[in-house]
Amino acid sequence: MSSTLSRREALKNIAIAAGALAVVRTTTAAPALPHVSPKDPMAAGVSYHESVATIKASQFPQYKPGDKCANCAQIGGAAGQTWRPCNIFAGQLVNANGWCTAYSRKT
Ligand code: SF4
Repeated sequence: MSSTLSRREALKNIAIAAGALAVVRTTTAAPALPHVSPKDPMAAGVSYHESVATIKASQFPQYKPGDKCANCAQIGGAAGQTWRPCNIFAGQLVNANGWCTAYSRKT
């Protein structure tokens, strides 16, 4: 076996190992963050609703149709995702179709 062939084999093995590592990385999902529970004391403190459909307008006159977490200034993550991070609930996710009294429309 010549040194050129050995180098070629080594490069081939590196390429195979890199490909295998890429497969492992793409198939190993990051652990999902927990969803904010409306029953959580902090969530209850800001009247977090997991869906705007459950908001009673008479109880929350500040709520305006169309307001929801997805267009709130506190939302993070990517548009289109159902569960997204919120600045006031660190380490948890809120429903993009939810709402709370800390809502402020994104400008
Ligand atoms: S602060 Fe905004 S994004 Fe966070 S829960 Fe309240 S309405 Fe939703």
